[in-house]
Amino acid sequence: MVSRSSSSRTSPERGTRDGNICEFYEIDGDQGSISGKFGSNGRVFTLSATGWSAVVEKIRVRFDSGAETLLLEMGQYYGTSLALEIMKYGIDYTKAINDLLQTAFYSGWGKFSVKGDLPNGKDISVIVSDCVFCHEPNMRKSSCNFLRGIIVVMAETLYGQPLKVSETRCIASGNDCCEFLLEDDP
Ligand SMILES: [Zn+2]
Repeated sequence: MVSRSSSSRTSPERGTRDGNICEFYEIDGDQGSISGKFGSNGRVFTLSATGWSAVVEKIRVRFDSGAETLLLEMGQYYGTSLALEIMKYGIDYTKAINDLLQTAFYSGWGKFSVKGDLPNGKDISVIVSDCVFCHEPNMRKSSCNFLRGIIVVMAETLYGQPLKVSETRCIASGNDCCEFLLEDDP
């Protein structure tokens, strides 16, 4: 059972200004492997933003109108594994939120903050500044469906109920940040 404390806004506590990435990851120079130390502590690897952009562009060419659904489902599958990894340690509600924000921050996804009625899962929005998923100049339209899939699964796991997540602002559409709004999915 997840315990919930009252907090209306939260953002990464460590690493926002002077954090050392080695606080979060352990790099094995002999094996060429990187493992997380915080939240999810399994092996990880990095992707370049340019490489990700090229993958998304190819998916769009290959799958046309189905591409955004595919990216959303990819995010949901990835988010499920991430959520299970974080939740299996029996962490409390506040720690779960902070772990998710820390994971996103130290994964280089951008700077995340969450606001709204966090204890009750109402009117929650997730704001991402400098989002890596629409970082490249060739991302001309809202392109964060992979991230939207991750967020919806994370939120549903935390709150134990179906939720809808819509991206109401996107850097790729000319906004200064990406914003995701969580709503009940009756
Ligand atoms: Zn976006």
